[in-house]
Amino acid sequence: MKRLIIVSNRLPIQLIREESGVRMLESAGGLATALKSYLEAQGRSTFSPEEVVWVGNADFPKELWEEYRTSGSAGGTFTIEPLWLDSSVNEGFYNGLSNSTIWPLFHYFPSIAEFTESHWQSYQEANRLFAEQLDNLYQPGDVLWIHDYHLLLLPRLFRERCPDASIGFFLHIPFPSFELYRMLPKPWREDLLRGLLGADLIGFHTNDYVQHFEKSVQRLVGLESKLRTIQVGNRPVRVDLFPISIDYDRFHNAYTLPEVVAERGRIREQLQDIRLIFSVDRLDYTKGVLNRLQGYETFLETHPEWRGKITFVLVVVPSRSEISSYGERKQLIEENVGRINGRFATMSWQPVLYQYRSLSFEQLCAYYTACDIAMITPLRDGMNLVAKEFVATRQDEHGVLILSEVAGAAAELGEALQINPTDREGVAAAIQQALTMPEKAQAERLRQMQKRIRDYDVVQWADDFLTQLLNAKNQQHQWE
Ligand code: UDP
Repeated sequence: MKRLIIVSNRLPIQLIREESGVRMLESAGGLATALKSYLEAQGRSTFSPEEVVWVGNADFPKELWEEYRTSGSAGGTFTIEPLWLDSSVNEGFYNGLSNSTIWPLFHYFPSIAEFTESHWQSYQEANRLFAEQLDNLYQPGDVLWIHDYHLLLLPRLFRERCPDASIGFFLHIPFPSFELYRMLPKPWREDLLRGLLGADLIGFHTNDYVQHFEKSVQRLVGLESKLRTIQVGNRPVRVDLFPISIDYDRFHNAYTLPEVVAERGRIREQLQDIRLIFSVDRLDYTKGVLNRLQGYETFLETHPEWRGKITFVLVVVPSRSEISSYGERKQLIEENVGRINGRFATMSWQPVLYQYRSLSFEQLCAYYTACDIAMITPLRDGMNLVAKEFVATRQDEHGVLILSEVAGAAAELGEALQINPTDREGVAAAIQQALTMPEKAQAERLRQMQKRIRDYDVVQWADDFLTQLLNAKNQQHQWE
């Protein structure tokens, strides 16, 4: 039986202990939801859920897993193969190289990127342990799909063990321009590229990221890419773009879910005639929350006629609290919210309503569909699914998307009001334009964007990637 082995840093499950025993909870994270939609899409998937194995780091103790396994509890959608990294390796690998080097550098924040040799050692060790775990369960014919920046070395490490394996890799964050990428220490930057080139197919969100990767390979490894193919020894490696998408129908249909209707009603009732700007992001310096607040402040300064008539609901979702720069960010955001509210609020009106928490799917969709403007202005973002989700939910064809031009999603959402997130006046002007945009123009823009997202939904994304991976392998066999 041909199996699909998904490899990602995190597993898409949690285990919790209850009185009746250990229970598995499936997470609603992006990739897991995407794959479930793909596997469940009748007639569109090459694999069935029983043929999918998921390998990843466990964030539950080994004993709990053993207890869960031996109790014979009903499983989730996928077969799970957990891995336990030693805590010091995990610290250097996850908080260190992954999130304090690659994440900031690939998002164009070189000044906060750390270059620590021990983190690099841990990163290599973690990737080796992933390769070992895969080797234990791999059977000839299995198809591997490795995900994201934590596992850049893994394609090559596994290729060395199993030269014939079908290996696909997808990067969920930007691939930066060569000038940024080259800032990595020499051995690291070459090893990371060679690591990726162990795959048969390497996928990115946008054409720019593909080109940046090709340029780095050409300059640092000396291999040219021709027609999106890089010849590595006698093995052609395909490089291509696959802009990740969302479960369009789930978000579109959410508009009429009773809980969403009720919650939307509550939000609108509280606001009365006040116009609503909404944004939601994980707490992360890449998301541009401070710049967004500054743009909004400039808007209130320069458009006093809107004071008292507009509110900005800013939701920040807790994330990566163990990394200190994230904690500092939270404080800065709160100071800025406080300053704007202190400056403009009246007895009966508050310009910014700030919430530091996560939202349920229904609450999220209620805000998406209650707001007049979704303001998504990251300083850099691989894709940004929130932008696509907002567009998909608007069955009523009302609302305007203000979107950063440096989010990957900007390449597909040309009808959004695109801004440079550091340009305060530009952000303020976009808010004014959104508030005064005729309903017909709002509907027209939303319809065009909806069509595009519907046509390339997450099922299409996964199908496209896996079909190309299988084709790439078949072509290699024909060449032999
Ligand atoms: N989201 C969530 N909980 C929340 C708010 C948002 O799970 O409280 C989801 C949201 O629906 C979206 C994802 O988190 O699918 C964020 O993805 P995005 O690509 O916008 O940014 P990322 O956090 O992956 O950088």
